[in-house]
Amino acid sequence: METCDVLIVGAGVTGAAIARELSRYKLKIFLLEKEVEAAFGVSKSNSGIIHAGTQNPPSSLKGRLCVEGNRLIREELSKDLGLTFVQCGQLIVIFDLKDLPALEKIKKEGGELGVKGLEIVDRAWLDAREPNLGPEVKAALYAPTAGIVSPYRFVYALVENAAANGVELKTSHKVTAIRRVDEGGARFEVEAGGETYRTRFLVNAAGLFADEISALAGAPSFKITPRKGEEYLLDKKRGHLVNHIIFPLPSENSKGILIIKTSDGNPMIGPTAHETGDKADLSTTDEGLAEALAGARRMMPSISRGDIIAYFAGLRPACGRDFVIRREDAAPGLITAAGIQSPGLTAAPAIAVMAADILKTHGLGLEPKKEFHRLRPRPAHLFQIPPEETKRLIAKNPAYGDIVCRCEMVSAVEIRDAIKRGARTLDGVKFRTRAQSGRCHGGFCTTRIIKIMREELGLPVTEITKRGPGSELIKGERI
Ligand SMILES: Cc1cc2nc3c(=O)[nH]c(=O)nc-3n(C[C@H](O)[C@H](O)[C@H](O)COP(=O)(O)OP(=O)(O)OC[C@H]3O[C@@H](n4cnc5c(N)ncnc54)[C@H](O)[C@@H]3O)c2cc1C
Repeated sequence: METCDVLIVGAGVTGAAIARELSRYKLKIFLLEKEVEAAFGVSKSNSGIIHAGTQNPPSSLKGRLCVEGNRLIREELSKDLGLTFVQCGQLIVIFDLKDLPALEKIKKEGGELGVKGLEIVDRAWLDAREPNLGPEVKAALYAPTAGIVSPYRFVYALVENAAANGVELKTSHKVTAIRRVDEGGARFEVEAGGETYRTRFLVNAAGLFADEISALAGAPSFKITPRKGEEYLLDKKRGHLVNHIIFPLPSENSKGILIIKTSDGNPMIGPTAHETGDKADLSTTDEGLAEALAGARRMMPSISRGDIIAYFAGLRPACGRDFVIRREDAAPGLITAAGIQSPGLTAAPAIAVMAADILKTHGLGLEPKKEFHRLRPRPAHLFQIPPEETKRLIAKNPAYGDIVCRCEMVSAVEIRDAIKRGARTLDGVKFRTRAQSGRCHGGFCTTRIIKIMREELGLPVTEITKRGPGSELIKGERI
């Protein structure tokens, strides 16, 4: 039996950020994840926007944590963790000057939340900076602090840094039972992955399944209602289309269909926002495509269906309108971080600080470690660097010249490095390196990646999966 001070359920961005924040202190921490890798839940299927903090009610927890999360990512984490954070800014556009008061209201509420640099800009400003906007767009609210990251690489960076500071990540560890105990300071006994853990504090960061974890722990106090968002990724050759993240005026339930400049260069359109009762419904639909195209084309008419190379859906783990971050009186020692819908990716570092404060207030001693490894070296990605730097890398290590994924320029070194950093599946390699993300969707490189994985992991090819058990690509064959 393993014992610890804090056991965190869920290695999405919320659990990973909490683990990294707590890893500053002298604590024994486990981070348990049911999937075969971290970042395989909601945190892999989103828009990757580090929101400025507008479009949130000024009194909301999510508004406050979004603004602080944005600051932490911009000023600290992007450098400390070697993230590719691009501060491109966001525009909320209007199609009729009659809507200027609505923009003024968002500006005022954003200002109350502490969003810096908000400015209403006219068509001449937009023409100079966002020339592909359509003629219907009349003005916009500009928020310079918004930016973009790769959502999964953000989670991997948090997990890697937490692990460098002693946190133990256990993947393929689905929490199946939680019992209350009162022995040697432990308050919960948790069954996961065939093992038993005892812990003083239990942090529920289980995303779509947070309500189920809460019920297992004896505090069935909320229900997660998934809200599906479909997103459509455009070809990288259309990367010049857009310079900012472009929003329409928000509605009651959603920020609307956006045109997103992504951190890896492909523009993206979406997400839709429709409630679904099914936590496994990741289907994309003709209606979703039509909605995303219509919304995006109103802002930028030159976007066409033929630009789309890939699509996916994600489920926002909604629980009412705000985040639910609190200790559970019905189960002392249990901390909930649930209902982490958008802007959860942005808010995660601030959620982590809040969770640490709650834990401290309720008896967890937070004694700083003498040596906290704040920095995580940034992995090299050829698609992000200029050709002269690529040449220098190849001169040092010729395997950088061995290009495995031609669409995205990913070398054999990067694939091996991703596996050394924890990739165990083809999707894990894809999320870390972009290999298989281009127009050919891995038609060219998948077999080569499988061979490299076989060498690095010492596994037969029949055990190499796309995203975990049940998604094997090769059955009883040899390559
Ligand atoms: C379409 C869409 C677009 C979005 N765009 C943005 C955006 O641009 N910017 C932004 O800030 N936010 C955005 N969001 C919101 C953001 O993605 C989420 O707020 C965030 O990813 C939630 O992270 P999480 O860690 O709470 O949940 P998850 O990432 O789902 O993590 C929870 C983890 O818990 C694990 N788990 C569940 N049950 C168990 C169990 N029994 N045992 C062990 N592990 C378990 C899951 O496998 C999962 O890995 C978007 C969301 C969607 C759906």
